[in-house]
Amino acid sequence: MIYDLIIIGAGAAGLFAGASLPRPVNGLILEKKGAPGRKLLMSGSGQCNLTHGGNIKDFISHYGKNGPQIRSVLYRFNNLSVIDFFEQKGIALFEREDGKVFPKSLKASEVLNTLVESCVQNGLQFRHTSAADQYTCTGDGYTVRCGDRSYTAKKLIISTGGCSYPATGSDGSFFSALKEMGISLVPTAPALVPVYVDRYPYGELSGISFQNAETTVGSVRNRDALLLTHNCFSGPAILNLSRFARPRDLITINYYPTKSEDVILKELSSSLPGNNKQVLTVLYEYLPEIPKRFLEAICSRAGVDGAEKASRLSLSLLKALVRLIVRDEYQIQRLGGYESAMVTTGGVSLSEISIKTMESKKFPGLFFAGEVLDVDGDTGGYNLQFAFSSSFLAAQNCLAEKIGAENS
Ligand SMILES: Cc1cc2nc3c(=O)[nH]c(=O)nc-3n(C[C@H](O)[C@H](O)[C@H](O)COP(=O)(O)OP(=O)(O)OC[C@H]3O[C@@H](n4cnc5c(N)ncnc54)[C@H](O)[C@@H]3O)c2cc1C
Repeated sequence: MIYDLIIIGAGAAGLFAGASLPRPVNGLILEKKGAPGRKLLMSGSGQCNLTHGGNIKDFISHYGKNGPQIRSVLYRFNNLSVIDFFEQKGIALFEREDGKVFPKSLKASEVLNTLVESCVQNGLQFRHTSAADQYTCTGDGYTVRCGDRSYTAKKLIISTGGCSYPATGSDGSFFSALKEMGISLVPTAPALVPVYVDRYPYGELSGISFQNAETTVGSVRNRDALLLTHNCFSGPAILNLSRFARPRDLITINYYPTKSEDVILKELSSSLPGNNKQVLTVLYEYLPEIPKRFLEAICSRAGVDGAEKASRLSLSLLKALVRLIVRDEYQIQRLGGYESAMVTTGGVSLSEISIKTMESKKFPGLFFAGEVLDVDGDTGGYNLQFAFSSSFLAAQNCLAEKIGAENS
């Protein structure tokens, strides 16, 4: 039997490709794990931040050095197209204040189930626990080997993801098959990772988060939410910055970037004389957005007795306190590995594909979509947007009448 289409990898990209086919096919989706979309189910902490509501022009800067190269992919099937696609499928969406778009149900499972159903409606059969280990070109199609079984199709979409969170199935094992076929690969590395620092002091405060923190490494600065975990700094303000950080770099964290250090010092110091309230109370009243337990920890780190009268706090101790709030500095010990990386940088080089169609330049009829490509974005819905944009193009073009290895 020769299928019309085989999709390798039932993650966000493979499923979206199957769900957005322009017409039904006789095809297969091969998935290594026992069920599709494991990573999709974890996305956005299980709530699935499926795109961002900003202007598509502003997306480009969120994909590092490869942003400009994928401009046309994002423009051809943009964030409004993604929103429209899911709404047409009956999923109500909403945009949060920070621009992140989620299903109203806040359930990634709703997104996954809809994509799986649409794939089935489009004639695709799922073959779970079917890890593809090789593909060969048959002249007028492709044969994919999964252990002792093999399947042949006229067209092939490869959407095997990157190497991050390998337990979800995206373990990068298919890269060796691609290399064998002469596809050039950009070396992979974990991206969007937590940052481990020397003498991390906030293990006891695991779970505390700051909605608006500023992180700085060298000349790169990022403002977003920050999370304290039991052994490292995480959250978007850290993950997005990790792209620019290396072990031994200095990282500076400002937990209250709303006002400058000078202003905070001036305002706090003027409130101290004759103030009978406890230091901790004064701090908390002045910085209500900062969790009290964090302020307690700051007092202890600065050697200040939080229960002492504010009027007795010396200027030098006040300066030490404020410094820990707005200029908390650490040396980076290490960055998180693939087990904690939200995405993978590197993968199939963009020079291998026609960016208009996602088709391989070397192998007509073979398409790539999603994180298997050398594209990684910031947190905020940018990675799923690229998975959807690239797979939409692959789906449209793999069934187009005339397929050519169109360049650029
Ligand atoms: C914890 C976490 C949360 C995230 N949250 C968000 C978010 O809210 N918003 C956002 O935009 N992005 C988020 N991301 C990133 C986003 O999930 C990925 O960029 C996206 O899933 C990539 O889609 P993909 O289909 O290319 O790859 P994947 O989703 O990784 O899917 C690849 C699939 O291919 C299968 N596969 C691999 N090799 C083979 C093989 N040889 N044969 C058969 N099947 C194979 C895998 O099992 C897997 O199912 C998050 C990532 C993580 C880890």
